Amino acid sequence: MRKVVSIVGARPQFIKAATLSRQFRLLGVQESIIHTGQHFEANMSDIFFREMEIPKPAYQLDIHTLSHGAMTGRMLEGIEKALQVEKPDGVVLYGDTNSTLAGALAASKLRIPIVHVEAGLRSFDMTMPEEVNRVLTDRVSSILFCPTETAVNNLKREGFDHLPARVVNSGDVMYDGALYYEDKAQLKSDILRRVGTKKFVLATIHREENADSPEKLRSIIAGLNEIHKQVPVVVPLHPRTRNILAQQYILPNFIIIDPVGYFDMIMLLKNAELVITDSGGVQKEAFFFGKQCITLREQTEWIELVEKGFNVLVGSDSRRLISAFNSFRTQESDFSANLYGNGHAAKTIAEIIQKF
Ligand code: UDP
Repeated sequence: MRKVVSIVGARPQFIKAATLSRQFRLLGVQESIIHTGQHFEANMSDIFFREMEIPKPAYQLDIHTLSHGAMTGRMLEGIEKALQVEKPDGVVLYGDTNSTLAGALAASKLRIPIVHVEAGLRSFDMTMPEEVNRVLTDRVSSILFCPTETAVNNLKREGFDHLPARVVNSGDVMYDGALYYEDKAQLKSDILRRVGTKKFVLATIHREENADSPEKLRSIIAGLNEIHKQVPVVVPLHPRTRNILAQQYILPNFIIIDPVGYFDMIMLLKNAELVITDSGGVQKEAFFFGKQCITLREQTEWIELVEKGFNVLVGSDSRRLISAFNSFRTQESDFSANLYGNGHAAKTIAEIIQKF
């Protein structure tokens, strides 16, 4: 493939795309970016393009704040038009958002080969919108880049050995990104001064299953309020969660800040005592930066972290959360295990795409 179109729309996709995009430039693969607009606020989108030096999108579809169906449908239409103009050799999709699925549908109907980065992940919970997006995207992809051996095995179980698709364990581009941007973050970020506390726990909450359930959200906030009495809890709050907290009159006592850029996020991760999250990416980043992670979900796609004792799943139950916090606080772990590749996933991926 000499010319690809990459489709992004949400924060974790900007972070993954930054690393692969740099490799495309190094190898002379021509890339046009379509930004669907799923995340559009400056601190959820522009800041990543600027800090991480992601090329300016050739298409800005500006589609957001709609139901899943309406959003995916409008994206499908916009992406199809752009692909008909660009006529790329392949379409690169990241992760599991509505932008991923819309890209998969548009490209497969136009018979353009699909490259899925972060393929093969499964939570085995089809009530999660992300799980539906992943399963469907994987099925129509031509090259599936898996971040872990677990992901490769998931695809094998689904019969991918018998499909005309290439499955590669490339390692995780997010690990490459964490290594590449760490020094820049150290130089450029002043978040530690701004949060004003040296000792803290970092937490993020945004997943639909938590944010859209007032009962679960209340329980999580109660748990974090309790933990904050022992160690300050810092939460860069996702706009979705912020809106629901306000609508439901749920009152956090801990330190809430606006969503931060990736440099600030790295510094928060590196300096936190431990991490509490329902994010997929943040679970891994906690590990990259040597922190225990408590996950506010009942299952995870990053099961190796749980199996090796770096991560514990507590759902939304405040008692389980507090008890995990108390036992993790005193636990020392060796984070030297190599679970997500060698930091050269993006190079491997770009080289295979170039030769495809
Ligand atoms: N992130 C960030 N600023 C924040 C919160 C998260 O840069 O205020 C980064 C985080 O480090 C990770 C990515 O966003 O790389 C994760 O995105 P998110 O949690 O939105 O999505 P998920 O990984 O669950 O799909």
